[in-house]
Order: sequence, then C-alpha cells, then structure tokens
Amino acid sequence: MRPVSIRAKLTAWYVFVFGAVLACFCISIYVMMERKLSHSVDRRLQTMAELISKTELCAVPHFLPPDFERRLNRIFGTRPVGKFVRVLDLSGEIGSRTDNLEENKIPVNKDLIREVVAKGEIVFETQYPLGPDMPIRFINFPVKSFKSNKVRGVVQVGTSLEFVRESMRNLVVIFFVLVPSLLFVAAVVGFFLAGKALKPIRDIARTTRHITVNNLEERITVPVARDDVGQLAATINGMLDRLSLSFQKITQFTADASHELRTPLTIMRGELEIALRGERSSEDYLETLGSSLEEVERMSKIVNDLLLLSKSDMGHEILQHDPVDLRILLTNILSHFKILADKHQIQLSSALEEVETVFGDHLRLRQLMVNLLTNAIRYTSVGGKINLTLRGVESGVEIAVADTGIGIPVEDIPRIFDRFYRTDKARSRQYGGSGLGLSIVKWIVNAHHGTIRVDSVVGEGSVFRVMLPTEKKMRREKLRKK
Ligand code: ADP
Repeated sequence: MRPVSIRAKLTAWYVFVFGAVLACFCISIYVMMERKLSHSVDRRLQTMAELISKTELCAVPHFLPPDFERRLNRIFGTRPVGKFVRVLDLSGEIGSRTDNLEENKIPVNKDLIREVVAKGEIVFETQYPLGPDMPIRFINFPVKSFKSNKVRGVVQVGTSLEFVRESMRNLVVIFFVLVPSLLFVAAVVGFFLAGKALKPIRDIARTTRHITVNNLEERITVPVARDDVGQLAATINGMLDRLSLSFQKITQFTADASHELRTPLTIMRGELEIALRGERSSEDYLETLGSSLEEVERMSKIVNDLLLLSKSDMGHEILQHDPVDLRILLTNILSHFKILADKHQIQLSSALEEVETVFGDHLRLRQLMVNLLTNAIRYTSVGGKINLTLRGVESGVEIAVADTGIGIPVEDIPRIFDRFYRTDKARSRQYGGSGLGLSIVKWIVNAHHGTIRVDSVVGEGSVFRVMLPTEKKMRREKLRKK
C-alpha cells in the first residue's frame, strides 16, 4: 500500500476540522433561526389576541356579531392576512370567527380551553389539521373582565407556519450548496498551504537521500528562520558531523590496526626468510624462533586488546559488580611490579591508605593498574622514581601513579586516550606498547563511573589520577535514581 503523504494527511485533517466547525455553525444558525422565527410568530399572535380581547368583539362572548369580519378589519385598519381569529366561550363553544376558517377544520381542544379558563394563562398550540406539512400555530388567550379579572372567554388567533417551514427549507438548501463549496475551497487552500509548509522538509529529505559514505561532508542548507524546520536541518547536520567523525575514526582505527599488525608480521617474515635461505646452526634457528614468538605474542596482545575494546563498544563486555578492597589489590600488584621496577633500576614507592571499598570488576581494575604502572615504567628512565598512592577523597577514592619519566607534551594530553595514539612511537614499540593501553584504562574508568586526570611536564614526569566512587556512594546513587 502506498504511504499517505503528510501533505494529504494535513489537508484531510484541515478539511475535517473545518467541516466539523462549519457543521456546528450551520446547526447553530438553523436552531437559532427557527427559534427566532417561531418566537416572532408567537409574539405577533399574542399582540393581536391582546388587542382583540380589549375590544367589543369579546364584550359578550355569546353575542355573535354578524359583522365580525368587518369590525375586525376596522380594528386593524386592514384585513389581517393569513390569520384566523375566533372567540370561544368558557365551555369552548365558538362564538365568533373569521370567514377564512371553515367550521371544524381546526377542532377545538376543549380540555385545553378548560385549562386556559381555569388558570387564566396563555397557551400556545400547534395543530396539523391540513396535513403534516401544514402546521397551524395558534394562541389561546384568556379574555378577562375589567372589573373582576375573571375569565369570560377565550380568543384564538392562529396562523399557518408554512412560511417558517419555507424559510428553514431555504436555509437548508443554502447550507447544502455553501458547505461543500467552502469545503472544496478549504481542501484546495489547505493542500496548497501544506505543500508550501512542507517544501523545506522535502528539500531536506532530497539532500539527505543523496548523502552517502562517499560524500559525508555534504550538509543541508539551514533555513535562515530558526523555526522547527531550521532546527531539524541543524539537528541533521549535527548528526552528520558526528557520523562523519565516527566514520573518520573507524577508518583511522582500521588503518592503524592493520599497520600495527603489519609491523610484527614484516619482522617475522624477514627473519623466517633469512633463516630459510641456507643451512643455519641450531642456535640461529632457536634465535629466529624466539624472536618470532615475541612478535606473535605482541600480535596476540594487540588482537586481545582490540577484541576487548570492540566488545566494550558494542556493550558485550559485561563487568562484575563486586565490592573491591583497593588496598589489597594494589598491594598485590605492587609486589609484581617491584621486580620489574628493580630490573629497570627504577625506585617504586607507595603510600596506600585504608579506604572504603569500591564496587566493580576485580579483574578489570587490576588491568587498569597494570596498564598505568606498565606505562610509568615504560616511560621512566633508569634511576627514575614511581610513586603509587591510594587515599580517600570527598568524591570517593583516588589512586595516583606519579613518575619522574619523560612526560607528555601539553598538546598531546587530550589525545593519549585515543586508540593507537602514541607520542613517541619508537619508544612505545621498543617497550612493547601498541597505543591501546590508555584506551582500555579510560574504558574501565568510565565503566566504573569514575574519572581520570593527567598532569604532566615534559622532562619532569607525569601523574595519572583515577577517581572512583565508593561502594556506599554507588548504592546511594542507585537508590536516588529509583
Ligand atoms: P602505549 O602502548 O604506547 O604505551 P598507551 O595507550 O598506554 O599506549 O599510551 C599512549 C601514549 O601516552 C604513549 O604512547 C605515551 O606516549 C603516552 N604515555 C602514557 N603513559 C605515559 C607516562 N607515564 N609517561 C609518559 N608518556 C606516557
């Protein structure tokens, strides 16, 4: 099924709402008009009846003036066209009547007359003696004596409601012509306006459709007016910026990863080719095998690191959430690193305070510390110092690894956590680095809701500070979020 365009939907809604309003308007006009006309008919009937009741025509109800019609004409100056008049006595017997009223055509409702007489109140009545299409409206007006205020008879003045019916019919015809015409005009105008309003969105859709991986740099022209459409265009452009950046990062990452794996492969290939060129001593073969193994280990470390990072990117790397005593963890790691530091003639000291436990993954926190300490040893020269501290701070627990190594240039600091970023490639590679260590550190810190800060001076050393929330704080935070 072809999808209905927003333009058509908007027009349909517009016509529907306009039609509903128009229908309400027409119904109100119809009802008001009918009431007004009926009311004015009743008022006129009442005025006439009142006038007649005050004349000699009703003085003696039983008296049948032979010239009733003539006298009536005299009262009104002219013959009241379309009206009939009759005077009834208290029992509902007709005393006098106009000629236009054939006897018995409009029967007298004697019960009603008795009620009018008893209550002394006006009663309006509609009858259909000439068929359902010819309603006759008339008033039953009690004639009261001047002195005693007693009812002496009843004056009936009636008229056909034909003209009211006719007017209402005409009104309906007008509505039936007017409403569809107005709806048609509304549909045309609505369709045109919706098209005009949606044109910028169509333009945006057209441009967006043409943007592919090959022209990710293209952008949508943002309308000058900062209205909804302008905001949409700006939002899409923002998204394209982010996509383009991510794409660049992925491309760069793929290139870096291939490059990083190619180097050990080239070395291995060279060494193996030399070994195969001629007969060698078993020591030479052993050396070649040992060197190849080193390169294989380097490659498998890179591949493992890459795997971990891609898993973390996809959210597949699930962390344990256990209480971890950092003092025990760091003491344990220190005993291993002391040996390594001694080997590099670096002095490794520590000051580990008793701190509250943190909530996290024991294995990953260990990996974090290993990466930081490995870097500290890697980038500190013989005779240098490394100091590891652990202390409780207001925001949780702080672990600091300070070294007196080569330091990091200020402009490089924001980039050292990027994948494969290395300030000194040769040195990093020489000591087995691949440029992924700090990316993993950053991921672990973030996954533990912590922060990491670096202060460094070239030639003097660097301090990496990791801040982690305590278990208590994490639990409080969780409760607050619930
Ligand atoms: P690598 O495997 O190269 O050490 P990392 O991601 O661990 O990769 O570190 C990225 C870069 O940050 C390193 O190449 C190095 O230039 C710099 N760096 C990291 N730690 C230190 C440190 N303690 N002292 C000086 N430079 C460092």
